[in-house]
Amino acid sequence: MYDSYGRHIHYLRLSLTDACNLRCVYCMPEVMQFRPRKELLQDDEILFLLCAAAAEGVDKVRLTGGEPTVRAGLVNLVRQIVQISGIREVSITTNGLLLSRLAQPLADAGLRRVNVSLDTLDEAKFRRITRWGTLGDVWAGIAAAEAAGLRPVKLNSVVTRGYNDKDVVDLARLTLEHDWDVRFIELMPLGSVSGFQESAVVPSRETMGRIESVLGPLHELPGYSGHDPARPYRLEGAKGTLGFISSVTEPFCAGCNRVRITADGKLRLCLLRDGEVDLLTPLRAGASFTDLCTLIRNGVAQKPWGHGLAEHVIPVGRVMSQIGG
Ligand code: SAM
Ligand code: SF4
Repeated sequence: MYDSYGRHIHYLRLSLTDACNLRCVYCMPEVMQFRPRKELLQDDEILFLLCAAAAEGVDKVRLTGGEPTVRAGLVNLVRQIVQISGIREVSITTNGLLLSRLAQPLADAGLRRVNVSLDTLDEAKFRRITRWGTLGDVWAGIAAAEAAGLRPVKLNSVVTRGYNDKDVVDLARLTLEHDWDVRFIELMPLGSVSGFQESAVVPSRETMGRIESVLGPLHELPGYSGHDPARPYRLEGAKGTLGFISSVTEPFCAGCNRVRITADGKLRLCLLRDGEVDLLTPLRAGASFTDLCTLIRNGVAQKPWGHGLAEHVIPVGRVMSQIGG
């Protein structure tokens, strides 16, 4: 599919649930009301929509949430998604808490890769950020993912001022010993927590400077495609790579190749714009496969060029966990 700006859209992020077993400060308020299950896409609805998306050219799917691993029947769902004609890669983004028991079954079901969120190596800070997580569970999840062959592991760190902005050096240091991709993400403002997010954003340039001041120069790697939001770098002699996702200070909208489907069945055209196309209502009203293909194709054609953060246009409708990061 091509949008009206000529961008080739073939990557879908699919949210499996808006619920989560953590409450990260930068993602959602502590008290959250999650949607009742009947308002969320059921497995057969997900498969139908993915078949339609694949027929329109989607070949890469990332499962996200909320926390995708809390969805019942996840392994079976993955097994069916990987069999959809045209889909060549299925991966997942997770907080890692449940990965120690799910990594192997997910790999056996055909999952290709995993991104694990990890914002600090300090137990107390981890708890302050996630509100009730335990770091040991994430480490066990990462080890299980590696053992199951879900490599290379990517680690995502959202850098939040006053919470983990000094921890980026320790996180970057991990790549000296491990062939992991550690990616630092600028905090994006969304929904009811946007005030906090705007005040706590740390520009990638600052994060890079902090890392270089302790660990030495970052070498930019050749061959960057322009589609991955993270431009890759390597520390001298490191086994793994570092990436910086600068959605706020250096938007990468020209290379965007993705759309999202939320857990409640809306085609979300841009993470940072409120515009959505309702797929669930027509689906439940009996829309045909062809109707859904048309809805998806026409929706993609309306994909906005980029976000409006520079003009202080902040999406208000949902927080991150309700979209699917
Ligand atoms: N629960 C899973 C996890 O934490 O990896 C998947 C969903 S989470 C919404 C996906 C990614 O979005 C995570 O890496 C998380 O750190 C990131 N994220 C959440 N809120 C964010 C925000 N306001 N700005 C930037 N990234 C954010
Ligand atoms: Fe949950 Fe992921 Fe949001 Fe943290 S970032 S609250 S783990 S959805």
